[in-house]
Amino acid sequence: MIHNSRTRGLGRPPKLRWECACSDPPILLARYDAGGKVQIKIRDRYYMASGCVHATCPRCGAHHVLDLRPAPADADGNPTSPPLPSHGGWW
Ligand SMILES: [Zn+2]
Repeated sequence: MIHNSRTRGLGRPPKLRWECACSDPPILLARYDAGGKVQIKIRDRYYMASGCVHATCPRCGAHHVLDLRPAPADADGNPTSPPLPSHGGWW
């Protein structure tokens, strides 16, 4: 049994597939990595994007939204509120 655990040492971050499951095999909408970079394929060209990306499946026309923005850290379940300047006593 061959156990091939050797990674391709090119330092490339693993790309994740963003796809629509309307057909088999799924329609690839874009590729993205954990860093939030999205590579959208439109026809024969690739476009780089980041953050919140919208895409329409070329096959079924479904609208997809990929939100790679960092989630707010609310470990306590509190809604994130902006810091309010409650008092102006700076000095
Ligand atoms: Zn689709």
